[in-house]
Parts: sequence; structure tokens; C-alpha cells
Amino acid sequence: MWGLAGAGALLGLGALVWGAARVDSPPPEAMPRKVVLIGVDGATWKVMGPMVAAGELPTFARLQAEGASMTSFGTMESQDSPVVWTSVATGRRPLDHGVTAYTEAVPGVGKVPITSNSRKVPALWNVASAAGRSVEVVNWWASWPAESVNGVIVSDHTNPAAAGWMAGKYFAADAAALKARLQDTFPPELGSSLDPYWVDPAAFPEAAFQARAKLSDEQLQQLRAAPFNERTPYSWLKTFYILDDPHARLTADHLRSAPADLTMLYLRGPDPVQHYAWNFVEPEAYAEAPPTLARDRGLVEAVYRYTDALVGDVVNAAGPDATIVVVSDHGAEPCRGAARGGKGRPGCHGAAAKGVLFIHGPGVERGARIEHANPLDVTPTLAWLLGLPVSEEMPGRVLSEAFEPEVAARMPLKRVATWGPRAAASEASTASPADGQMLEQLRGLGYIE
Ligand SMILES: [Zn+2]
Repeated sequence: MWGLAGAGALLGLGALVWGAARVDSPPPEAMPRKVVLIGVDGATWKVMGPMVAAGELPTFARLQAEGASMTSFGTMESQDSPVVWTSVATGRRPLDHGVTAYTEAVPGVGKVPITSNSRKVPALWNVASAAGRSVEVVNWWASWPAESVNGVIVSDHTNPAAAGWMAGKYFAADAAALKARLQDTFPPELGSSLDPYWVDPAAFPEAAFQARAKLSDEQLQQLRAAPFNERTPYSWLKTFYILDDPHARLTADHLRSAPADLTMLYLRGPDPVQHYAWNFVEPEAYAEAPPTLARDRGLVEAVYRYTDALVGDVVNAAGPDATIVVVSDHGAEPCRGAARGGKGRPGCHGAAAKGVLFIHGPGVERGARIEHANPLDVTPTLAWLLGLPVSEEMPGRVLSEAFEPEVAARMPLKRVATWGPRAAASEASTASPADGQMLEQLRGLGYIE
């Protein structure tokens, strides 16, 4: 437990490293007070563009029309989710932040999903906390065990669906495992208050899902019949709905009841469905059209419809004074050659599969198009918006062109040499009772062998 003592140590370190910069100073008045970052894994304009044009994604259409956007957002050298999303959270390249894969070997434990202890540098939530800003982090990759922050962390192990809904194993754990469960959230006692949000797969909220996803009747029948946690588009559609929907709901509720200065929410839906259904998006790119093309065309679009609704709920809950940043880590494209053969899935993403970026809120240049930006630019931009210093260690830049020039000019850019090393990692054990199921799920996704 390094609660207050740990935060104090980080604050002290910050003051030392940042020199004259007063880390506890309130943000300048011109600064937007609330910043909401929503990560949407795999979101691509290839799917969104036609849907926005057809009026099918009202939230994203509004974010684009009223804000600044980029429809060919850059990707990174690695496109493994924990790697890229840790870069989004730290502003650092993978070799610098230390999260370089889905799993790591822990002596005496074996291979486990990557954890927050793997991160070698401070994340935005650490630095914001140390500077007295409040934070809420929901389902970010490699956020378990939850670190002590000035606010809330709902780690990526918290939602029981994250472990393939193995409720019995998850809760009927031994003492050590129960202790581990207390690391799912910060503060630990938050955990039980979240239970009402989680969705029992046996009671899949089909009506709410269908109101958003708008499947055909035939597709809905397939969805009903599909099991959870299987490598098929229908399974992923429902599996990731019960992951993403609760995270969006609890984030929206917290934004209404006790908004943090910085909220970070990660939604995962588009990426896994695209991996297994991209041949329905670009059937002409494959040697053979999928035999179920007529029936299954539109499954990927269904994820975007429900994701648009989830993002819309969070944006509305954040209110008009919040700055909203929506970002994806990459897009999708047909797998080629060996990439497809190994995992038997039609959808892939390489450097050419671009993501998207939307910035929306007070002072944002209406209708602006951002050019030459990538995931490494997110942390500097958010630090700037929060009145935190941007570290020279970050290869990215502040995307100030997203804001009206006179607004940007009133927002001073503070720079420091370094954000320093990460404060002592939690002494928590690295293995969680959910690890086995998480590894299974990653294997199912084709992420690991
Ligand atoms: Zn992927």
C-alpha cells in the first residue's frame, strides 16, 4: 500500500524534476477543466466514413462537424494493444515505457498477461494525480493491479467479462486470490459498487444491444445462437458488448456524479470483430467471397453503431464544458499471405491501416482537419490541456492546431526535461486469479499462441 505516502513521494519527485514548475498550481483559467479521452481499438474511417455520410453514426458525425478530426491517424511500430495503449497513456515509445508484448514471464509464476508493474515510466494518471488533478481510468490496457491515484482506476481485470465470465473461479478464490481481487480497482472498496454494472452473459441485454447495433432478423438469430468467447464475428459482437457497455455506463455515471479532471476510457469492440469479419467489409479483396456474405454483411458496421451510442452517452454525460478526445490505435485491412494463414482470420492491421482522431469541446477549431499525428501525440496534448508540463522525453507533439489560435495562445505550454521514473510499483503479486482466462481469451483472439 503506497496510497498517500506513494502519491506524496511522486509529488516530491515531481517538484524536484520539474524545478520551478509548481506542480500543484491550478490550471490557468483558459484551460478546459475536464478532459475525456476515449480509446476505441481499431476504429477506422474505412468503415466510419460511409456510415457518417449515411447518417448512421450521429456521435462521430457531430464530433467531426463540431470539432477537429483526422481520418488517417498514424499508427506505431507495434500494433499490439497493450503496447500502443501504454504509449497513448505515457507519450513514450515501447522500449522506453517497457510494455512490449501481450504477456510476460514472471519467475515462479509463468506467463501472465502484461500488468501495470511492467510499465517503467509514469502514466498520465500518475502525473495528473501528483499535480492535484483528479483522474478516472476505466479498462485501460495494463492497468492491473490498480495504482493509487487521486481518483479512480477500474482496471482491465475488473469486469468479470474480461476473464470470459468465469464467475465461479473468479470469486470462489483462495485468500491470496481474494486479496488480488482488491487490486482490481482503486480505491479497492470501489470494486463492489461496480457489481451492478456487470452483465451476466446468461441475461444478455438483447433488446438494448439490438436498439443500438440494428442487426437484421437473420443476424440476430445467429447472435442468439452464438456462444461467448469464441473466434467468430457473432461471438465477438456479444462478448465485447458486455465488456464495453458496462465500462461506458459506469464512466458516464461517474462523469455525471463526480467528474474527474481527466477521464480515460478504453473500448475494444471494433478490433476483434474486424479481425474475424473484415471479409464482409471488403469482400472484393479476397480470392473467394465468404459463403455467408449476403447474411453477414454489416456485422462490423453493427459494432460501430453500438460504439457510437456508447461514446455518445459518455460525451453527453461529460457535458459541453469538457474537451473530448477520441482516438484509435490503428484501423483494419485484409490479411495477406502468412498473416492470414497462421490465425485463420481475414482481418489484419499493419502500418497502412490508419486510425482516427477526434477532438471536440470549448475552443476547438470547428471542422478543422489535423494532419501528421499519431498515438504518441495524445499524451503531450492532454498534458497541455490539463496544465501539466510536457516532457522532452516524449517524441510526440501538442496538437495545438486543433484549437482556435487565440484560445491556444492563452494556454501556456510548460516543458520539463523528464517526468521522472515511475514511482515504486505496487508490491502486489503479478498473478491474478483471472490470468488463466485472460490468456485463453487472448489466444482465442489470435493475439498470442
Ligand atoms: Zn487487432
